Amino acid sequence: MKPKQIDAVQVCKEFEDLLAPRLKLSALERAIYSHLFRHSRLEGKSRLRFSILWLANHMGVKGRSVRTAVRRLIHKGALRLIERSNLGHLVEVRLPGEVCVQRASRTEASGQDTLPGAAILDEMDFMRARDLRQAIHAREGSVCFYCLRQIPSRAHCLDHVVPQAAGGSNSYRNLVSCCLDCNSQKSNRPAEDFLRELYRERRLSAAELDGRLRALKDLAAGKLRPQVLSGEDAGCCD
Ligand SMILES: [Zn+2]
Repeated sequence: MKPKQIDAVQVCKEFEDLLAPRLKLSALERAIYSHLFRHSRLEGKSRLRFSILWLANHMGVKGRSVRTAVRRLIHKGALRLIERSNLGHLVEVRLPGEVCVQRASRTEASGQDTLPGAAILDEMDFMRARDLRQAIHAREGSVCFYCLRQIPSRAHCLDHVVPQAAGGSNSYRNLVSCCLDCNSQKSNRPAEDFLRELYRERRLSAAELDGRLRALKDLAAGKLRPQVLSGEDAGCCD
């Protein structure tokens, strides 16, 4: 399996500051997650096989407590159980961003907007890792957010709707995938102004302009949530 590069410092911050409190992880659950993370994702492996005895020895607590904590981590989505046998547990250790997507899906399915997943997604920096940047491209489906042209994956880029110079963040609510022409033509102007210019240049119809202005509002409102890819690198340029 090709090792996936992660920003360990950022992952630790997201785990400590966002995921652990939101999932209400106990001290033992935090310690177990950190230990499994260190032996899997930190070494470029998404999966890890371990025995409860091995984990209990490292944690210095009884096997029964460890077994319960592992079960809870699986239930809360921080670990994905792939297999349990007499060889031990085979799990996928999910990064905070991967957990939140799963929980965000549940949020959408249940029609509630206040579950933790959505809040974690809101606070994530989508420029910090390749798979997160790729998730924004995938959300747009190979179409430029502004001019609606099909764009090959080697010719797309990410644009800050509200420019960074004006305080725009790296949230999925402020990033769109667009073609290189739109990226350079828009520059630091407000996105609405740029869309109207595309309409005046007849690169967008009136209906398309309306649709794009609505999409801008949906984006800012957090309605255009990306699906964060997990596992192997998406293998696409960004
Ligand atoms: Zn474009």
